[in-house]
Amino acid sequence: MRKPWYIEIKATKFLYWYSKFTGTHGGAKMAAFYPFIFTTSEIHPNMRPYFINHELIHFAQQLETLFFFNWLWMSIESGYYTGFKNMTLFETYVIHASEQEAYDNMFNLEYLQSRKHFSQFRKYIKNKPVIWTEYLDKKQKIEESI
Ligand SMILES: [Zn+2]
Repeated sequence: MRKPWYIEIKATKFLYWYSKFTGTHGGAKMAAFYPFIFTTSEIHPNMRPYFINHELIHFAQQLETLFFFNWLWMSIESGYYTGFKNMTLFETYVIHASEQEAYDNMFNLEYLQSRKHFSQFRKYIKNKPVIWTEYLDKKQKIEESI
């Protein structure tokens, strides 16, 4: 297996403000902009590999869409969910096809080896399996395990 390559930048303040504007209320722990992963010091050590995996899934999405089409599709989804479905910014953040793919597969550390190109579009535009509360339960179980 090829070790994933990325440059990690600790940016607690930046992430706080970034996530204020993107709907996660200052709670974002990591962000991906290939080849950089921005992280904070508030990540539980048990969750770290899964968060990194989440961001690496975003890398794959960004690269295959040349960033622009992923961004364009996220903007269309944002407009649709906030404008027509009356969702909050936070609900919209979770339901984006690219976040659904990342949250749905981040706990499977082998996922990227078998991922098909454009999975966020092929699988997650209509199918939105990730419910935030279930994610939080899973995260809590992992953090509490030794
Ligand atoms: Zn994400």
